Amino acid sequence: MIRGSCSCKKVEFELSNKPMIMGTCHCSRCRKAGSSILVIVKSDDLKITKGKETISTYRPESGFKYLRNFCSNCGTSLGEILSKDSSFPISANCFDDDPIVRNEFHEFVSAKPDWYDICDTAKQFLEHPAK
Ligand SMILES: [Zn+2]
Ligand SMILES: [Zn+2]
Repeated sequence: MIRGSCSCKKVEFELSNKPMIMGTCHCSRCRKAGSSILVIVKSDDLKITKGKETISTYRPESGFKYLRNFCSNCGTSLGEILSKDSSFPISANCFDDDPIVRNEFHEFVSAKPDWYDICDTAKQFLEHPAK
């Protein structure tokens, strides 16, 4: 089991398998949400063990498509932890245990602020890797 939680511990979850991949998004929206480092998890592997009712959803204004979940008590970014998709990103920041995977790519590097230097050798994509 790989366990994670928000800062205030009202929300807790566990993964039965390691995430599929870890990546870093440098877009301003992930940065402002405090959720730049993401892991993609399979829905079947994730169980929210505590506080599902405490999780809030930020629905983006038009032009943006990703919902963002966060703890309504402490504000910790949880990625898309309430997603109904078969796999989805959650914030690497909220793991208590080692998620085992390591950063494999950087996306939206074109939006990276100058004060942040990439210090690993992971692949870099100027925008989304699918482009
Ligand atoms: Zn919390
Ligand atoms: Zn992003």
